[in-house]
Amino acid sequence: MTYELDHPEVREGVARLCLDFPGTYWQKCDREQAYPSEFVAALTQAGYLAALVPEEFGGLSLPISAGAAILEEIHRAGCNAGACHAQMYTMGTVLRHGSEDQKQRYLPQIAEGSLRLQAFGVTEPTSGTDTTALKCTARREGDTYFVNGQKIWTSRAEYSDLLLLLARTTPRDQVAKKTDGLSVFLVDMREVRGKSLTIRPIRTMMNHATTELFFDDMPVPDANLVGEEGKGFRHILSGMNAERILVSAECIGDAKWFIERASRYASDREVFGRPIGQNQGIQFPIARAYSQMRAAELMLREAIRLYEAGGNPGEEANLAKLLAADASWAAAEACVQTHGGFGFAEEYDVERKFRESRLYQVAPISTNLILSYLAEHVLDMPRSY
Ligand SMILES: Cc1cc2nc3c(=O)[nH]c(=O)nc-3n(C[C@H](O)[C@H](O)[C@H](O)COP(=O)(O)OP(=O)(O)OC[C@H]3O[C@@H](n4cnc5c(N)ncnc54)[C@H](O)[C@@H]3O)c2cc1C
Repeated sequence: MTYELDHPEVREGVARLCLDFPGTYWQKCDREQAYPSEFVAALTQAGYLAALVPEEFGGLSLPISAGAAILEEIHRAGCNAGACHAQMYTMGTVLRHGSEDQKQRYLPQIAEGSLRLQAFGVTEPTSGTDTTALKCTARREGDTYFVNGQKIWTSRAEYSDLLLLLARTTPRDQVAKKTDGLSVFLVDMREVRGKSLTIRPIRTMMNHATTELFFDDMPVPDANLVGEEGKGFRHILSGMNAERILVSAECIGDAKWFIERASRYASDREVFGRPIGQNQGIQFPIARAYSQMRAAELMLREAIRLYEAGGNPGEEANLAKLLAADASWAAAEACVQTHGGFGFAEEYDVERKFRESRLYQVAPISTNLILSYLAEHVLDMPRSY
């Protein structure tokens, strides 16, 4: 893969950092379902997790294309950004809708790495993708909100200080539109953990440090309401394009890792007295995955171009996520098949990456929901829900 990529210095820096975290490091974390603390600390120290924080708050003020380059290179190197990427996703909501006081209070500490904003609580067990049906409530009494309810799949909550939380502040039957009446809060979990907030880890098919959260009259000062009360759904939605773009970059990185591994193995491995890569049955799925990856990468660049020009590229960001997740999954499948039995052996890392890349068909948004967005909002077909 020889074509030119943006942010070459950032990419080289990340790739160099990732050399200290080889497959054996990730295999151990995976086996023990352990949080990759050393990896996250190294990224924090190098400033990469504060890439999108403005300079005035101590960050690097880099554009989203740099964030995408960082995440892509992490995945391309065989590492996984799932342990820490939320700091980039959630930043947009805080930057766009947070008060000056919230930014002054939190962003400098986030930028220097002493405070972690890694948890994002939207999904609930009973509402799932139907976000406006969420049941978690925040009731105001004086200058404090009290949160009750439950969240599921709140990743990294055990390794984060702050949680960006979506809760209902006005009951659904008392609002004109079901998207009204939801509010966003920046919860300082250090103050409530083990008291009114209970965090329970969920073991998953890959190592993802995901959890469920239980709120029992959890107090949140009104100074930690992000943006306007009742407009939280819109505030969260405005960060979704950034999330889609950044996740697409991770998928592109995964696809490149699989394609590189598969091509190399296909050229080296000899069976019946010749490299298996000489057989077109082995070559073609890898070449096809490469073409899918390149197409997805172009769409990602287009989404980034529009985003950085100040646009709201819902269509392109969703297309990039759909194509990139499909490309990484196709590359994962080709890589396992190329490796034969060794594709299933822990020490080759292929099976771990295979499990990890499966997630992107479901989270942070499922392929079906992207297709339904395209059908209804781009192609003007009737709404299905
Ligand atoms: C490892 C992991 C980490 C996660 N991290 C976070 C996190 O940090 N924060 C957070 O808030 N959430 C997180 N999630 C949640 C994730 O965003 C959801 O799992 C995802 O959005 C799907 O929601 P659901 O699991 O409730 O599926 P459901 O909504 O129950 O849907 C199940 C299936 O039905 C399909 N479906 C549902 N409705 C329709 C429809 N109308 N048309 C067609 N198909 C439909 C879906 O596409 C899906 O395939 C995480 C999930 C996982 C697995």
